[in-house]
Amino acid sequence: MKVIRTISEMRSWSKEIKNNGYILGFVPTMGFLHEGHLSLIREAKKHADKVVVSIYVNPTQFGPGEDFEKYPRDFARDEKLCLKEGVDAVFYPDDQQMYGPLHKTYVITEDLSKVLCGRSRPGHFRGVTTIVAKLFNIVQPDFAVFGQKDAQQAIIIKRMVEDLNFPVEIVVAPIIREADGLAMSSRNKYLSPQQRKEATVLYRSLKLAEHEFKRGNFDLEAIKAKMRHLIETESTGQIDYIEAVDAETLGKPVPGKRSVLLALAVFFHPARLIDNIILK
Ligand code: AMP
Repeated sequence: MKVIRTISEMRSWSKEIKNNGYILGFVPTMGFLHEGHLSLIREAKKHADKVVVSIYVNPTQFGPGEDFEKYPRDFARDEKLCLKEGVDAVFYPDDQQMYGPLHKTYVITEDLSKVLCGRSRPGHFRGVTTIVAKLFNIVQPDFAVFGQKDAQQAIIIKRMVEDLNFPVEIVVAPIIREADGLAMSSRNKYLSPQQRKEATVLYRSLKLAEHEFKRGNFDLEAIKAKMRHLIETESTGQIDYIEAVDAETLGKPVPGKRSVLLALAVFFHPARLIDNIILK
């Protein structure tokens, strides 16, 4: 497995792979890998001849006062995990590589980036689309795998790829959870043992919604109120949002006719956890 730290080396490695006619799959991450990330790598390996994983904590997607400095990092461990999964190359650039001192260009996906997480994290998706666009231009993959865990991110990336004509197919892989239902996240590391126990309420609230939906209750406001009540009574988490939107457009949901994305963000300080479920 190759560890590549510069854009020029990444480009020439990719070029050689493509010249050989291989299908190149790409998994962008911020590192501190867990089973969720590894599931994306396994998905990529199913469809690709060669797989690149990028590990880069992207400063432009963190707002002021967010956890950029203390975001967990452990490259030695990540490298071992990638090797074990049979990854072909790890792209591990530093900030000088990714953002030169004269950097001025950003990619913005309008509207979609202003709802849900975009409302409480202004500028976050501008950072995400910018870094993903840069990574796509550097790695030049045939396809890239993203997690449904970040449902809004996946929708925004798909929009960007279509709008800017990137020749990259976007694959979205399911959410991987701990045995008790908590969605895996690098940020779960911030949770105290008590918060970790309480955080299972997020998945339980989503399952409660699914249960309501399955028995024919499409009253999304009533469902959200039930979820809110459950989270507030069974945890110390502070709800940032619980929202139901159209699963494809992030617009107004049409329950019963189109898939609904039910998404939430809850603070268990200092962590902010997100999770979601698709109600069909
Ligand atoms: P991150 O390192 O948090 O930026 O995540 C990198 C990729 O892994 C993104 O596409 C995430 O959606 C995906 N991911 C993170 N956690 C999970 C999870 N629990 N299940 C599936 N995918 C995940």
